[in-house]
Amino acid sequence: MLRIAMPNKGRLSEDARELFTDAGLEIRAAGPRALTASLGGEFTALFVRAQDIPEFVADGAADAGVTGLDLVQESGRTLHELADLQFGRCRLAVAIREDSGITSVDDIPDGTRIATVFPRITERWFSARGRRVEIVPVSGAAEIAPHIGIADIIVDLVSTGSTLRVNGLREIATVLESSTRLVVAPGARTDAGRARALDELVAALGSVLAARGKRYVMANVPRARLDDVKRVVPGLNGPTVIDIMNGGAFVAVHAVVAAATIYRTIADLKALGAEGILVTRIERLMA
Ligand code: AMP
Repeated sequence: MLRIAMPNKGRLSEDARELFTDAGLEIRAAGPRALTASLGGEFTALFVRAQDIPEFVADGAADAGVTGLDLVQESGRTLHELADLQFGRCRLAVAIREDSGITSVDDIPDGTRIATVFPRITERWFSARGRRVEIVPVSGAAEIAPHIGIADIIVDLVSTGSTLRVNGLREIATVLESSTRLVVAPGARTDAGRARALDELVAALGSVLAARGKRYVMANVPRARLDDVKRVVPGLNGPTVIDIMNGGAFVAVHAVVAAATIYRTIADLKALGAEGILVTRIERLMA
């Protein structure tokens, strides 16, 4: 059995459940408050606080963990990253009051008080820049600190930036770019059975992540424009070109293309005389 520690609540929890379900590791819990659940096959989920996951994985209570890079780094535990799961993206940023004259980290005087939920990362980051600051650890809502005299500056997670704006704060530097990672303890792969199960897990999650950024496009295109069509839809190894059984001037072209630029691809295909353009999502992609 491979025990995977997953966030039990909050924004990471839902995205983790969706990714695992899409990868065929459906969560079969006895109830919404169950602390463990079968994921099918040899995988079991343990639902714990995202902050505790680095500790549990390092101590061997779980074989793998799904949690933010910010929390892994703050834990101070040495863990190996098997995959970037690409959700829970945020940055740990240095922010100050909007009316402050400070514009960069170089302007921060020694002795400045910095409120943060991430004292370890913050301390390390400022020391690496030769700044002697005073860390004020808080357990949440750091944004209030500069307004009530607890600290001059904060180091906090930022996603859209709206929380900082609403609280009259301005970002001046990025300490860490974070997202959710799949992590294991350094010795996790010494057991051959566990190493194989971890490889299967990484492949299953990776195939879903790869597919999310892609679309499968099908179109009937003029045979005479095939060379131009191949430039528009290069596909993974070149597009699949299929004869249409009317012996005519059109062939069918199928290709995997980037989801982010699908509108451009469709417009380009239309400009080349394509007809019957069809775009579908891909469930898994093993390139
Ligand atoms: P935003 O207003 O979108 O910049 O979000 C900032 C607020 O959400 C702060 O209170 C952060 O602590 C929290 N936050 C944003 N992204 C994450 C994340 N990936 N994990 C945990 N907390 C986050």
